Amino acid sequence: MKLEFGVFPNGKKKVLTMSYDDGPIYDRRLVEIFNKNGIKGTFHLNSGRDSSDGWSLSAEGCIELFSGHEISCHGKNHPHMTELSDEENVNEIVADRLMYENRCGYVIRGMSYPYGAFDDRVIANCRDAGMVYARTVHSTEGFGFPTDFMKWHPTAHHNNERLFELLDEFLNADDDKTRLMYIWGHSYEFDRDNNWDLIEKFCEKAGNRDDIFYATNIEIYDYITSMNKLNISADGTLINNPTATEIWFYADDELMSVKPGETIRLGEKK
Ligand SMILES: [Zn+2]
Repeated sequence: MKLEFGVFPNGKKKVLTMSYDDGPIYDRRLVEIFNKNGIKGTFHLNSGRDSSDGWSLSAEGCIELFSGHEISCHGKNHPHMTELSDEENVNEIVADRLMYENRCGYVIRGMSYPYGAFDDRVIANCRDAGMVYARTVHSTEGFGFPTDFMKWHPTAHHNNERLFELLDEFLNADDDKTRLMYIWGHSYEFDRDNNWDLIEKFCEKAGNRDDIFYATNIEIYDYITSMNKLNISADGTLINNPTATEIWFYADDELMSVKPGETIRLGEKK
């Protein structure tokens, strides 16, 4: 029996995720655009911001706004983490978790590096604070999946001049390869640059398609790490899923899935 793993829910081979930082009030309009087009985003927030500045969302406002999306850490005070002590770095991330986790009702395990600044020590500090992935600001202009989730390089910033060229390449690909398109930025840039039409156009074109898995950052992390945890019998006919994520695969070209906690015997269960 030929087993083919690496496909996403319902056999999809394309994944799109959006990643926006700092939690400004402009995220409201951005989320509206995402929701209209069935697109999911991860929002990296700084718990030290105060909505009385007229620029930042309140913690309560974030919970409601980002429902169905992901709230993630970005350091309480938006620090240059390479310049802080180990303890300060851990505290910056834990403060974000303490602010948002109980309010949003899930464990926050992801972040993006403020100013994109990180090194091996910062990575170790962030892991100590419970982080399993962290986004950088290094654009690859590619569609690969991260080899190290603590150095998760995005495809492009939304202002990349090749944005729509990259989107076309992503949408038109029809081979067997899996692809991730990962766009990042700040929603205040749309206001500053007066280019909301850019993200509207992007989302209208990229959204609401049957062949794309629209996911938050942590959903991608969970899917890939869960897939790698499947237990498969020596003869390849028993597949056990010890994780909390349903995993999809092809068995002799037939699309199948194994649910959380389930063990299936191939050839029996269709
Ligand atoms: Zn930032």
